[in-house]
Amino acid sequence: MRTQVGIVGAGPAGLTLAHLLHVMGIESVILEHRSRDYIEHRVRAGVLEHAIAELLVDAGAGDRLRREGIVHHGIELQFAGERHRIPLSELADGRTIVIYGQTEVVKDLVALRLDAGLPLLFEVSDVSVDALESERPIVRYTHDGEAQVLECDVIAGCDGFHGICRPSIPTTVLREFSREYDFGWLGILAAVAPSNDELVYAHHERGFALLSLRSPELSRLYIQCRPDEDLDGWPDERVWEELQIRLGLDGWTLAEGRVLEKGVTGMRSYVAEPMRHGRLFLAGDAAHIVPPTGAKGLNLALHDVQVLADALGAWYRTGSQALLDAYSTECLRRVWRAEHFSWWMTSMLHRADADGDFGLRLQLSQLRYVTTSHAAATSLAENYVGLERV
Ligand SMILES: Cc1cc2nc3c(=O)[nH]c(=O)nc-3n(C[C@H](O)[C@H](O)[C@H](O)COP(=O)(O)OP(=O)(O)OC[C@H]3O[C@@H](n4cnc5c(N)ncnc54)[C@H](O)[C@@H]3O)c2cc1C
Repeated sequence: MRTQVGIVGAGPAGLTLAHLLHVMGIESVILEHRSRDYIEHRVRAGVLEHAIAELLVDAGAGDRLRREGIVHHGIELQFAGERHRIPLSELADGRTIVIYGQTEVVKDLVALRLDAGLPLLFEVSDVSVDALESERPIVRYTHDGEAQVLECDVIAGCDGFHGICRPSIPTTVLREFSREYDFGWLGILAAVAPSNDELVYAHHERGFALLSLRSPELSRLYIQCRPDEDLDGWPDERVWEELQIRLGLDGWTLAEGRVLEKGVTGMRSYVAEPMRHGRLFLAGDAAHIVPPTGAKGLNLALHDVQVLADALGAWYRTGSQALLDAYSTECLRRVWRAEHFSWWMTSMLHRADADGDFGLRLQLSQLRYVTTSHAAATSLAENYVGLERV
């Protein structure tokens, strides 16, 4: 089989790239090792930056997003028993965030792809990439029990952090930068209307908590936990009890509901440089990971593929490789900005035992500064809704 762009992975990055290319008349084949049902129900991110929601709408992939996405104009920071609103839109030139689950983004893009009869293969195995430094890179894979070879002009490695594309780049070429955190998030999805109109990021001596949502009927809530926390020790009642303590305020109660999903997510900051090797281009989690506190993972993945789609479009139209050559540098500027912001939000809000009471006092001072200084709040707001230029 032959195509112009071979895409490994049908997460948000791979699916969006395929769609943007299709709009420009460029062919692609997506290879995904999970089933359709699995990827459509993998609960992950849910906050879209202003520009990313616009990207999906402008590309014709945002009909349901426009109808069902919930536009938020602010977030709240809670510490020392009080809540303080950061008016995002007021501080960031009217830009907003849109609450729309990653599962819904994936469902919309899969439906568009399959309805158009375009190639998206699920449950492929034994995927490997080869001849990356030639003009005919190939993807090998097995589908329906048969070994196949896909010849491409370029390969997009959109296969997430545990994929095979990044490890296919020689270690002499790739530089890795990372930071581990000694905590993670225990998250639940609950069938209950969100108890607050906006997201609440809560700093608490017992650890961080986040009140978020996926829809008017679905709440998404997190508490800081150990990275290897055993879920057996966390029956639903205990999760709600802890959430009530960390998010609780005088005169306000968190509404509880049936827990539909529960999981532990570790936290990591990670960047691989460069994001290109020969004709292989990495995008999204395949190249970088951020802790979820800044709500940047999904957004960064989509920024990457927007840059890649523009570069491929220019190459096919004019033969010029200039934008492809600039791809890695262009993406890494935004990646590192998001890495810093995500690390900063994480450090300000999580209990870090190693930092002791000194660290706690610094966090409270920083939170007071962010909620009382126009300049500091503006900095948080423009990073949160997504910077226009980096
Ligand atoms: C548990 C969890 C919770 C998260 N929560 C948040 C959050 O609250 N907020 C936030 O902003 N971000 C969150 N993130 C991050 C966000 O979901 C990711 O940044 C986003 O999914 C990146 O999209 P992607 O397409 O680059 O990668 P992925 O979504 O990981 O997609 C990669 C795809 O490639 C497929 N694949 C992997 N290996 C192969 C292979 N060998 N062959 C073929 N296909 C392959 C995978 O099955 C997957 O479908 C979370 C991530 C995780 C893991």
